[in-house]
Amino acid sequence: MSVTDYESVIGLEVHVELKTPQKLFCGCSTTFGAPPNTQVCPVCLAMPGTLPLLNRECVEFAVRAGLALHCDIAPFSRFDRKNYFYPDLPKAYQVTQNFAPICTGGYVDVATEDGMRRIRINHIHLEEDAGKLIHHEDHSLVDCNRCGVPLIEIVTEPDIRSGEEAIAFLRKLRAIVRYTDVSDGKMNEGSLRCDVNLSVRKKGETLFGQRVEMKNINSFNFVARAIESEFKRQVTLIEEGGTIVQETRRFDEKTGQTSALRKKESAADYRYFPDPDLGEVVVDSEMIARIQSSMPRLSDERKAMYKDAYDLSDYEAERLTADKDLSDFFEAAVKETAHPKTLVSLILTDLSPLFGEDETEAPLSPETLGALADLLGNDVINSNTGRKVLKVLLENDQDPVAYVEDNHLTQINDSKVLQPIVDDAVRSNPRAVNDYLRGRTPAMRALMGYIMKKTQGRANPILAEDMLKAAIAEKDPS
Ligand code: ADP
Ligand code: MG
Ligand code: ZN
Repeated sequence: MSVTDYESVIGLEVHVELKTPQKLFCGCSTTFGAPPNTQVCPVCLAMPGTLPLLNRECVEFAVRAGLALHCDIAPFSRFDRKNYFYPDLPKAYQVTQNFAPICTGGYVDVATEDGMRRIRINHIHLEEDAGKLIHHEDHSLVDCNRCGVPLIEIVTEPDIRSGEEAIAFLRKLRAIVRYTDVSDGKMNEGSLRCDVNLSVRKKGETLFGQRVEMKNINSFNFVARAIESEFKRQVTLIEEGGTIVQETRRFDEKTGQTSALRKKESAADYRYFPDPDLGEVVVDSEMIARIQSSMPRLSDERKAMYKDAYDLSDYEAERLTADKDLSDFFEAAVKETAHPKTLVSLILTDLSPLFGEDETEAPLSPETLGALADLLGNDVINSNTGRKVLKVLLENDQDPVAYVEDNHLTQINDSKVLQPIVDDAVRSNPRAVNDYLRGRTPAMRALMGYIMKKTQGRANPILAEDMLKAAIAEKDPS
């Protein structure tokens, strides 16, 4: 038996911080990055005698996410106390929904190399976040700004079979929470965090193996690496006759290995019980209908619209909508140009990689890119020059029309100007001309290269090639 005889079985627990301006049970701000302990009040600091008051907006956000993920929304859900002590948790319990979550069922369809795969969601529950510890050499400090920030935890069924699928799922999920404006889904700021549960089994086996949990992995890359290394560790251990113990493991970003952290705690350890300070959460059909009807446009809807309005292929439209920031950027830029197809090709070949993991800042303004698309679409510059100009614009956003003019980059479309250069090319390169005449078409590239060199890359390539062919035919009419 070897590694290839095994498959991994993966279930994810994804924590998504809601983008509501206020916390779950008090009026404190949720903005990221404020100085420590400036966004706190007696309620979220758990002073004796204070009482929580549920922020309805958080409930609406959770319902919005649930609807976008095809879940059933529970008419009644409840909050429970999960009791544990840790310095970042002043109450010594976390308010969460253990027994009656707000959403159940649901799914996400993801595109993988082997086609579409449906990853089922077990449930989504609402809960509050804990604070943060800031560790120094010989002491640690507590920042309570995050105490009480609203989260939803999305728990999948163990339907994921590889690291690649896990990443595809997370990307799609992140796109959905961003399209619905439920969260900014930034892994680097902790507004999207992921626990990975993983077991292995022999392919063809129907029962699940014993699972291990890896907590709080904070980038797509680390998720993939943690899965790969944990899969190998479990298979090797089983092959050597060992057994997997159910435990919580830590993924070390430096070594790329996982190491045991603690024995997996069980639900009983937390002494869950319904929070007596909070009533039932009621979501009626009227509220669901209202949220449903105010749902922002999601990626599939945008995709269909782009295909229709700009005559794009399925593939182009899919790529433009895979990320909300990219899609928003395209929508802003397409208003600035009369050449949408040129714009799309600029975005997909040169810009889409810049809308990476957590990067939300557009690399240049939509106006600038629209103007560049016009320069290309109107044959003012050729694609060769376009690429060079784009590079400059990415470093220093400026008016491309002025830049092209100031640097004399306009394309030469005038055959009178090109003719002497074409003649010179034919005269100076007899070997290439001969090769071309003998049917070696690549020789044309050498001749075009000569012309581009003489024109600093500004010749209209289609016109120049036509003229070259004509000049050669004239020279050798056979
Ligand atoms: P807990 O309450 O201990 O966290 P759950 O039953 O809620 O456990 O499951 C947590 C996550 O673990 C879910 O995403 C689930 O899909 C996943 N999971 C459960 N069993 C397995 C298994 N055998 N292998 C891999 N993942 C699993
Ligand atoms: Mg769990
Ligand atoms: Zn507060």
